[in-house]
Amino acid sequence: MYLIASNSLKNIMKQLGLLGYPVSHSHSPEMINNLAIVKKWDCNYRSYAIKSGSLAEFISRVRDLPISGFNVTIPHKQAILNFCDEYSSEVKTIRAANTICNQDGKLIAYNTDVFGFDYGLKELLGTTRSIKNAIIVGAGGAARAAAYSLVKSGCLKLVIASRDNHRKAEWQRDFATLFSETNLSFCLFDELKSENIIQETDLIVQSTPIGMSPNENETVPFPFHQLRSNHLVFDLVYNPETTKFLQLTEQHGAKIQNGLSMLAAQAAKSLGIWGFDIEVHEVVEVLKEQVNKKEKSV
Ligand code: NAP
Repeated sequence: MYLIASNSLKNIMKQLGLLGYPVSHSHSPEMINNLAIVKKWDCNYRSYAIKSGSLAEFISRVRDLPISGFNVTIPHKQAILNFCDEYSSEVKTIRAANTICNQDGKLIAYNTDVFGFDYGLKELLGTTRSIKNAIIVGAGGAARAAAYSLVKSGCLKLVIASRDNHRKAEWQRDFATLFSETNLSFCLFDELKSENIIQETDLIVQSTPIGMSPNENETVPFPFHQLRSNHLVFDLVYNPETTKFLQLTEQHGAKIQNGLSMLAAQAAKSLGIWGFDIEVHEVVEVLKEQVNKKEKSV
């Protein structure tokens, strides 16, 4: 009797998804549904376009629905923590989550952006360099994951550039312990050009949604002319593949990286949390095929 019940439970299709607003730019639903076909997984992944004002209501419904887990994107990566029951150790430090597991109504928060960022950065760096000085443009959830990753791997000086400094106090409070040996400072976008910040840095991480589809002609204001060939630039945006910011930084000699490998790596890690084990390179292959198909159809 018990065996029949557990087998039938096993056969229930797992419902997964992406919670955010906007979500229409995201490659995740197609990517994960394509992976499910290739790997013969019994799961379905859909988008939940939920504005900030409707987050509480969505979460109260999720607890009772057969949704096994979901990813979280702009603008909910920090707000989602108010609704979760348990937190991974990374989430406790970073105070931002991008992956939620629904265990019979109990919501457990994880952050797989850190793993994704590490993976993308290694691709950009190779194995021979480490980052000692970095600038992160933007101060949201992905910026927090990037900062955590950089500090853990020995970054000694980090500048957070944003449109206003309203997140400064939060960062200083949340990361007091993490940054005990790293010099953390804050500036406005405009101030990047007025000081020697660019010359002193090894890496620039672009973590705002500026330039993301459909706003492909936009870029953060940045002193591109100060870039040199020793600069590394990592734009976390993956749609379009080469943002205007990446085009301009590359034109000024920097070595560039987009967010596609990070997307694949964080997805592999999230899928593992939901019980679907997969290697990052398998996700990369499916994602590349999906992106190539899109490019040919345009
Ligand atoms: P988020 O938590 O909402 O943070 C966004 C940050 O960008 C905030 O600091 C926000 O400023 C700033 N920002 C937003 N719009 C802006 C504008 N028009 N002008 C200036 N600043 C603006 O979002 P997130 O989760 O960190 O994601 C940020 C970007 O990274 C998105 O494009 C996302 O797709 C990408 N991402 C990619 C991956 C990947 O796997 N490749 C993973 C994570 C994120 P305020 O601080 O003033 O609100």
